[in-house]
Amino acid sequence: MRRFHSYTVKSYLDFLKKLKLKRKITDIHLHHTWKPTKKTYYLADNKEKVIYGMWRYHTQTLKWRDIGQHVSISPDGLIWDGRGVNSTPASISGHNKNAFAIEMIGNFDEGHEKLEGVQLESVKNLIEGLFEIFQTDRLIFHREYSNKSCPGTSLNKLKFMEQIRNNVKIVGTAIATKEQMKQYLLMINPLPKINCTPDEIVAYYLKEGEVEGIRGDIAFSQALLETGFFKFGGLVFPNQNNYAGIGATNTTQKGRAASFVTPQTGVKAHIQHLKGYVSKDPVIAPIVDPRYTILVNSGLLGSCKYVTDLNGKWAVPGNGYGEKILKILEKITSFSAKVGSPNIKDQKILEENKKLKEENFRIQNKIKKYEGLISSLKSQINNFS
Ligand SMILES: [Zn+2]
Repeated sequence: MRRFHSYTVKSYLDFLKKLKLKRKITDIHLHHTWKPTKKTYYLADNKEKVIYGMWRYHTQTLKWRDIGQHVSISPDGLIWDGRGVNSTPASISGHNKNAFAIEMIGNFDEGHEKLEGVQLESVKNLIEGLFEIFQTDRLIFHREYSNKSCPGTSLNKLKFMEQIRNNVKIVGTAIATKEQMKQYLLMINPLPKINCTPDEIVAYYLKEGEVEGIRGDIAFSQALLETGFFKFGGLVFPNQNNYAGIGATNTTQKGRAASFVTPQTGVKAHIQHLKGYVSKDPVIAPIVDPRYTILVNSGLLGSCKYVTDLNGKWAVPGNGYGEKILKILEKITSFSAKVGSPNIKDQKILEENKKLKEENFRIQNKIKKYEGLISSLKSQINNFS
């Protein structure tokens, strides 16, 4: 008989971390079994038999070579193994190549069973762990690629993602690529007011983040939020190279927050400041953040772990501050950075930006014309006096 084994989330993730992965996994697919139901599982004397039943259906009725999914999450919160992780799943037709397939045991269509308690906790914790191990944050509901209701009409993806996002850690390695970060910035603001190239600013964030063990893509997302995608216009001027509002409080006068000699120093200070919030470990590079000791003295050092912990600490009152950063991050990581083949929605924004660029060019020319006119008027006035 084909055997199946159950794990806790932690022991399953430990097993995965040790596994030599031979295929690239970028997408986490989420399903509900519909049948077996939670009730079937509860009533079964031998829980393994429930998984075995799915295997029999998949291999004998559907003629698949093995059970379709990599794991099944049962109502008691256990992770049951399935198809080998190094094998492509039978998950969503046409989308299986880079997928990891999860089945949640139950029928989560409205009016039937509920995804709750230890099972919900396991689902969330497993997905978070998979995100970290596979360096991705792409969660796909089966219904996004088909007209089925799977993983159940009672599940709202946005709300679900929101719950998972609440646990995004600031320490770690960046998930977004350099190209995604740059292209996303340029799509929103084609003319960032930075004293270096967009390529350079992105590279500084990734590099300085790596030095301190901080996710450079999170810091970059925060910089985009703080500077309005490098349009500035708040309390900080572009020439201050201050991308995180360091030293800017509600009572700070415009231009009086911290200034940094170069963009790279500005990024370094930002990363160090962020590290101060998440870790009591000393910073590695020489300290350039002028507010670092203030964190030490105020007891804020190492007081945050997740991005949303910054609410009320980095930003006061800061309701929704971390969530805003995470929304930007999500857009960056799901951004198709293939130059020349943006999706339709991006295409619209690109066209809009092109128009804005042209308009900007027209306005600049007008300004030049008026400036010329003003100086000739001035010289005429001088001639009169
Ligand atoms: Zn499904």
